[in-house]
Amino acid sequence: MGVGWILALHGLATLTVIISFLCGNWPIFRRTPIGAIHRFLTSGAYEYLLRFVGLVCGNKGTDAILGVENFCCNRPNPSLQIFYLVMVGGIYFIITKTSFSYIPGYYLSEVHRYTSFLAIGIGIILFVLTSFSDPGTVNADNVYKYLASYPYDEIIYTQKECPTCKIPKPARSKHCSICDRCVARFDHHCGWMNNCIGERNTRYFMAFLLWHFLICVYGVVAIALVIAGELKESRIIQILTVYYGIENSVRSLAPHLVQWMLGSYDAQILLMVFLAIVSLLLAGFFGYHASLCLTNTTTNETFKWQEYISWQKKISEARASSEALKASISGLSKEEKPPESKWKSFFRRSPLENTDPVVKQNMYDRGFIRNIYEIIVPLSSRPAFRGNKLKRS
Ligand SMILES: [Zn+2]
Ligand SMILES: [Zn+2]
Repeated sequence: MGVGWILALHGLATLTVIISFLCGNWPIFRRTPIGAIHRFLTSGAYEYLLRFVGLVCGNKGTDAILGVENFCCNRPNPSLQIFYLVMVGGIYFIITKTSFSYIPGYYLSEVHRYTSFLAIGIGIILFVLTSFSDPGTVNADNVYKYLASYPYDEIIYTQKECPTCKIPKPARSKHCSICDRCVARFDHHCGWMNNCIGERNTRYFMAFLLWHFLICVYGVVAIALVIAGELKESRIIQILTVYYGIENSVRSLAPHLVQWMLGSYDAQILLMVFLAIVSLLLAGFFGYHASLCLTNTTTNETFKWQEYISWQKKISEARASSEALKASISGLSKEEKPPESKWKSFFRRSPLENTDPVVKQNMYDRGFIRNIYEIIVPLSSRPAFRGNKLKRS
């Protein structure tokens, strides 16, 4: 019983740390222990380390740590790429060591030894494609085709020059401060890929997310089938029923079964929990980016629209309140009106509510089929846009 409890607590602690690290900044975890662990892991521990190094080594020590932080977070570097490869390789190695001896099993045929390797191989190819492909770097030689790809909407994009690259800034592009280049249809800079996600590699990025979600689900299902096969083959249910002298019902058998599984397959169960959490996170991330792709928006543009809408709301509220002030001043100077009924004034809308709602007018949204096609075949790679230079000259 003791070993079972230790394993269960170990699993629970691992789960809490992973959830806190990855999801602790979500609003639902605000002011909860999970939020506090997230703050400690993401910034608190780093601040304590800086203070400790400052006390022991002085300014030179803190400068060295800040230099490392600048290298890791503000400059292109492969640390997260290496971490990804070590993590994928490590997990696959643990799976081969802990579960391959059960394949072929009662539910899994030998082919899964090879399909799992193939799945990981395809995942790494997608990772390499996303990491090392051109996201749509804009330079003086190719700027014409990116300018031709998207018109300026005159709302969040207007004609201007990139102050760093000294070239016209195409609509939907952004200068990435980490990579120090302008990128067409810029989505975001991805630290895991050490690359920007832009017009030309969003397709690989989406395939990467979807494929890794599927690999994680495959891993969870395959490991579950390994354990289920062992349960079946070792006739453990019958053994437990006889050993404990209990009836063969789910309720009475479940605690003994869980204890037996935690004792015999602890590594597999921890792997399953880890893969299930990662698959949920990947599903959420893929869902978010898929919704952006379907509406032909980018992560960068969602921030731009948020800024634009809140700015426009403030302007129209200021306008409405100044009009209300003017009306009340002119009302005072006129003849005194009979007082408004309390009921009428209660139901009368505030002048601030009369402001027109500010809506997002995304001119790049051309219907989901054309939007998806635009992700798969970027506009700048199509002959009509590539030949634009010739048409212009
Ligand atoms: Zn630039
Ligand atoms: Zn970048």
